Amino acid sequence: MSIISKDIQKAVQLLTDEQLVAIPTETVYGLAGNIFSEKAIKSIFSTKKRPFFNPLIVHIPSVAILDDIVTHIPQKAKLLANAFWPGSMTLVLKKSSKIPDLITAGKDTVAVRVPNHPTTLALLSNLDFPLAAPSANPFGSISPTKAKHVEGYFKNAIKMVLDGGSCTNGIESTIIGFENDEPIIYRLGALSLEDIEAVVGKVSVKNKKEDKPDAPGMLARHYAPKTRTFLVNDVALEVQNHPNKKIGVLVFHQSLQDAALTEIVLSKKGSMQEAASNLYASMHELDHQNLDVIIAERFPEEGLGKSINDRLQRATFSS
Ligand code: AMP
Ligand code: MG
Repeated sequence: MSIISKDIQKAVQLLTDEQLVAIPTETVYGLAGNIFSEKAIKSIFSTKKRPFFNPLIVHIPSVAILDDIVTHIPQKAKLLANAFWPGSMTLVLKKSSKIPDLITAGKDTVAVRVPNHPTTLALLSNLDFPLAAPSANPFGSISPTKAKHVEGYFKNAIKMVLDGGSCTNGIESTIIGFENDEPIIYRLGALSLEDIEAVVGKVSVKNKKEDKPDAPGMLARHYAPKTRTFLVNDVALEVQNHPNKKIGVLVFHQSLQDAALTEIVLSKKGSMQEAASNLYASMHELDHQNLDVIIAERFPEEGLGKSINDRLQRATFSS
């Protein structure tokens, strides 16, 4: 029997019983549990095979709850929360003593977000605790943007995926931390740097590959298909390097018009937003076609193009 269901009350019941439920958000599906239940939180880590040193994002129904969770809100964090919540932005702030160390991997900060999805907002307002929810995929693999992706990953491990349709933004939230009350981007994501800077002025970006990253999304290889994947400027040229291979190509807006290739065009009209929302579903699709290689086209380095390139880069073997 399918574990996919639209029944919010059933999700409330399971979460109250310290079980996990996969939840829809506008970024990707999350694997959610009660932040105050040690059992639920431990089972998030074990289900995902996520290392314990990687902290989780806390999801709350409204900015009003923030005061219960953090001890200090810099002025620019207030401006950002008012501008972009509910939405695809996570703020990392000094945590209150109520937040268990398991959630924050022992850090003195907590990552928090108000997601912009009607089903999950309704769920959160029916619970008397916030939800910890990392992306609902095994650690390192492609994030899920449809309920059936989660079912494919976890049908034997969890009881329910709350169905909220396809994720409209399709890539993870942009994570913003603060140093001396000044915002710093830890992970580029569904909210663009340009939009953030329009509210708080120039912001620095720490979104680089590191051996010991602050955020797992910063690992060099993450969000990765099983099929060997390349990221290039000129897809047609790279195709020539793989004679006699079954090739999948992932392009922004222009088709290569080559019947020998398995091709997905991310946005025929050239919209970065549409391309982002189709990105992971297209990677899932190509990854399930027994191809020898996937060749992805690099996006223009502007707006969401930067975030898409970041995810594509981490999907590749070589860098
Ligand atoms: P995921 O939801 O799986 O995409 O992962 C959540 C992201 O938030 C990870 O990259 C975490 O490392 C990051 N994160 C959560 N808490 C913190 C924190 N206190 N400081 C920095 N990054 C955090
Ligand atoms: Mg993730």
